Amino acid sequence: MPDLSHDDWKTRAAALSFNGQAFIDGRFTEAASGRTFDSINPATGKVLAQVSECDGTDIDRAVAAGRRAFEDGRWSRKTPGERKEVMLKLAELIRANLEEMALLDSLDMGKLITDAITIDAPGSAHFFQWYAESIDKLYDEIAPTGPGNLALIARVPLGVVGAVTPWNFPLDMATWKVAPALAAGNSVVLKPAEQAPLSALRLAELAAEAGVPEGVFNVVPGHGPTAGKALGLHMDVDRLAFTGSTATGKLFMQYSGQSNLKQVWPETGGKSPNIVFADCEDLDAAADMTAFGIFFNQGEVCSANSRLYVERPILDAFVAKLVARAEAMHPGDPLDPASRMGAIVNESQTQGIMRFIEAGKTTAKLATGGDRVTVDGKGCFVRPTVFTEVDQNDPLAREEIFGPVLSVTAFDSEDEAVAMANDSIYGLAASVWTDSLNRACRVPEKLHVGTVSVNTVDALSAETPFGGMKQSGFGRDLSLHSLEKYTALKTTWMKYKA
Ligand code: NAD
Repeated sequence: MPDLSHDDWKTRAAALSFNGQAFIDGRFTEAASGRTFDSINPATGKVLAQVSECDGTDIDRAVAAGRRAFEDGRWSRKTPGERKEVMLKLAELIRANLEEMALLDSLDMGKLITDAITIDAPGSAHFFQWYAESIDKLYDEIAPTGPGNLALIARVPLGVVGAVTPWNFPLDMATWKVAPALAAGNSVVLKPAEQAPLSALRLAELAAEAGVPEGVFNVVPGHGPTAGKALGLHMDVDRLAFTGSTATGKLFMQYSGQSNLKQVWPETGGKSPNIVFADCEDLDAAADMTAFGIFFNQGEVCSANSRLYVERPILDAFVAKLVARAEAMHPGDPLDPASRMGAIVNESQTQGIMRFIEAGKTTAKLATGGDRVTVDGKGCFVRPTVFTEVDQNDPLAREEIFGPVLSVTAFDSEDEAVAMANDSIYGLAASVWTDSLNRACRVPEKLHVGTVSVNTVDALSAETPFGGMKQSGFGRDLSLHSLEKYTALKTTWMKYKA
């Protein structure tokens, strides 16, 4: 991480210029309607940029550009090695513009610059590099059909992939979709979240600079019920990769049924359990990571460990450790490297979080936090909040709050902990803390989630698939498995004289 002070970051932020126009067919363009909306910095309330408010007309333009590019083969028929070279260049360009990419996300949605510059922006470069390097090392199959037959089974690109992404990791959520989709040879139309579209737009510009041809990667900012819906309903979009809330994920499944039966891959919400057993020896490490698991990125993380289950004998001691850590994470200016928590994405999200907190004060015991604060008299900030004595049926333990709010519930047996962990409509991730090898193997087997982290939280890398079970959706990002999302299996069967 560059050794920059608060003043350095403020100076760099002040010097930044923002382009909020859509990026369609290789160039920045206004929405056809000419309408724009404000992109607002939630830490200050200041308008950062006017963003093109695209609708169905612009989605049509972008999909048509993507289709033209796909059919004439300017990207889809390049060799995997050629696509690799371009994508490696894009990874390098992201690295060359790391401070800018990090600042765009920090200013647009309130995350800490220290996280954006060490996690989000380098992560994006890494994922582009990872898929670039993968794509010329994948072999297809020949089916065992016997003499006289040669049946080739290949993974082929689909055509135009629609991607709709959330605001909590704007650059990385876009990257998780765009990198494998481009690597596989598709054209992409990305509709980023309206709350934080700026890094995706800059990414498209960098992709063009790296050599991604016109029309191959389009970014169309706009609102969900207009631009997002138009993409979901589009008759010429071959596949739709979605990350966002469960309610919106369900809508995309409907859009598919109402249009061309495009395959939809939903990666949706979560309410991840974190189970701490009394046989966990390093409770300080567990408390550190438990605090990170819920308070990182202001708790605006799909896999946030928002339900903590602690074995009763260690409950009080563990909660005391946790409260100390929560109180050390007081929110501050996201551009200040000394801040430990940033701003909530916007006013309505902040109010939604506060409604859960106020209701929780009447049903559970507030151990710390519980209030909205300002920084320099402004902004959307919520203090890290811990509720104990939370009933399993309390909304605090059931609903995805998507903020820095942790519910704590005690348990008396392993079976009870597993039952409570599984008692959720969500199944994205879970964590287990134990020093028993048997338990470390046994409990993850019983948890109905996509990823179980043992003696850590939120384990994640390019090499492992990320996604959920139940109403957390069934899409998988990351790893070679995500390429299954952006390709179709194709059989070519040839007869020959044996
Ligand atoms: P959201 O569902 O409100 O929005 C996500 C995207 O869908 C945005 O681009 C939005 O414009 C679009 N959208 C909204 N309404 C739409 C509609 N009616 N038709 C078409 N498109 C529509 O979610 P959000 O608030 O941006 O993000 C938070 C959610 O994302 C949380 O539920 C979180 O758990 C989830 N999330 C999941 C993962 C994962 O990998 N499973 C990762 C990050 C975030």
